[in-house]
Amino acid sequence: MAYLDISTLDPAKTIVVSTGNAHKVVEIEAILGEALPGMRFVALGELGDFPDPVEDGATFSDNALIKARYALEVTGLSMAVADDSGLCVDALGGAPGVWSARWAGVHGDDAANNEKLMREMAGVRESERTARFHSSVVFAYADGSQLTGDGDCEGRIGYAPVGTHGFGYDPLFLPDDAPGRTMAQLELAEKNTISHRYHALIDLAAKLEG
Ligand code: IMP
Repeated sequence: MAYLDISTLDPAKTIVVSTGNAHKVVEIEAILGEALPGMRFVALGELGDFPDPVEDGATFSDNALIKARYALEVTGLSMAVADDSGLCVDALGGAPGVWSARWAGVHGDDAANNEKLMREMAGVRESERTARFHSSVVFAYADGSQLTGDGDCEGRIGYAPVGTHGFGYDPLFLPDDAPGRTMAQLELAEKNTISHRYHALIDLAAKLEG
């Protein structure tokens, strides 16, 4: 694939989005673009074939910062944004948390992760099945400064996967804002109005404007 030539980009007007997920770029641009008019959002993957950075932070915001700083380092650009997110289940002491993507052992194995979640939650009574998705979004500048937005989507863990949309733990997560449906039963547009990432981006946009 042909990559964009970094030297043709204006560093004062370009924000590199440190993700390989095209949907995230659209979602991030839709919300942060209003707070930052005239900026161009470019996915890191459009600029080159960069290996993923090691996400070994203790918190979601640590990992988002690692990803944002990595994008600045490998591109030499001046502004980067990155997010990190996961599921925190109260009955499991906040697990899987930052381990969400690789909880069952293999990074990104959603089916295995959901099997594990069902196993771990077997026997947990309804009133104790509360959980939330959390997202941290970091906007980092090459001068070393940064701003962070945080957001949650509260809900409960179901007993069996339902729904075909979305990804990750969506089929087992029943958001409070969509009673009776799992996240995987929501169209993407609807999910984007209640999701943890949406709330984190709104929080960050307010700080960028402020
Ligand atoms: P990432 O921060 O997007 O890489 O997400 C890390 C992991 O958290 C994913 O692999 C999923 O397991 C989980 N996760 C994050 N956001 C969502 C979501 O919106 N729905 C379902 N699972 C999610």
